[in-house]
Amino acid sequence: MYKIMTPGPTQVLENVRMARSLECTNPDLDGAFTQFYKDTCELISSLLHTKNETLILGGEGILGLEAACASLTEPGDHVLVLDNGVFGKGFADFVSIYGGIADIYHADYRNTLDVDALAEYLKGNHHYKYATVVHCDTPSGMLNDISRICPLLKQYGILTVVDSVSAMFGEPVNVDAFQIDLLCGGSQKAVSAPPGLAFVTISDEAKTAVKSRKTPIASFYANLALFENYYEKKWFPYTMPISDINGLRAAFENIASDPGMLDRHKMIAHATRESLKAAGIAFYQNSGFSNTVTVFECPAGIRVEQVLEEIKTRYGIMLAGSFDEFSGKVIRIGHMGVNATISNMVETLRALDMVLRVLGANLPVHLDTHFMQEIHAYAAD
Ligand SMILES: *Cc1c(COP(=O)(O)O)cnc(C)c1O
Repeated sequence: MYKIMTPGPTQVLENVRMARSLECTNPDLDGAFTQFYKDTCELISSLLHTKNETLILGGEGILGLEAACASLTEPGDHVLVLDNGVFGKGFADFVSIYGGIADIYHADYRNTLDVDALAEYLKGNHHYKYATVVHCDTPSGMLNDISRICPLLKQYGILTVVDSVSAMFGEPVNVDAFQIDLLCGGSQKAVSAPPGLAFVTISDEAKTAVKSRKTPIASFYANLALFENYYEKKWFPYTMPISDINGLRAAFENIASDPGMLDRHKMIAHATRESLKAAGIAFYQNSGFSNTVTVFECPAGIRVEQVLEEIKTRYGIMLAGSFDEFSGKVIRIGHMGVNATISNMVETLRALDMVLRVLGANLPVHLDTHFMQEIHAYAAD
């Protein structure tokens, strides 16, 4: 067994694991399940500060992104794809698979999306049905300011699709205040349930856009419209994964009873970055650091794979490399959800410190000690 300190999946608390082993009913026939599903969706909406409806989908986080694009996109629709990371760019595939024309707005991968530059661009280019935005682009840890980006897009009547799978509950998300039409989340990041579920919140405006399509949605599984009136009809498009949803509900109740969650993420992320910085370790990013994940470069002469292997086999801790253009270049620590505690981070940074030294790094401070100094300084502020 490893301690998983990756940016999803995260560790899963025992009460969530136990909830997944509760006795099952037939979710298609038992009205109590329909009620439980609806109550869970309403709990998610309230935690995301929205009056919009939430739907839980039986599939991994990616299903939410695809369902948002499948449900909105009609052949020939113009879609603005904001790209300053791997997931950002990836949205273009979902748009084009469903016949849309993806206009990729390519921005600097090392910096948070420049909202003023986007505002300039939109002055001359705003013929879009919707835009896609990634809140935290996990492979690089890039955080984008959705509180400014989405209202800006809405000024031009552009619907907003936001992937906050790896940011929500570690970074503030206020769906109504930020004017997010479709917000995508997943079970396995800061929510800290096992992988397997996606959920989306859908604004009335987005529902109207889906309803007023002239062509049918080119998918069944990714068709959000099929859930319409599920509660009244007591009917779901497919059998709901009841055990997964039991676990998800427990995970959200944990979140509901943890009002300090966002502050803790902020403190942990701050102390983690400061300790790496003090040790002379470089970051890929220049700005846009998410409070859910820290992405850093290996000290010179040390390979990413060596560090990941050593920390796993010697200390039983799993960190992540990255993928696409970041593959082999950076290491990622996921301090999101239940991973984001002082004790988890002290253990992880102590192990990382020893591994880096054994591999030849010359670190001027001890990562775990410096982390604790930062925590104390932060708390005293
Ligand atoms: C994890 C993640 C997803 C979902 O990916 P899965 O492989 O389905 O878990 C989507 N977007 C971002 C930014 C993510 O980090």
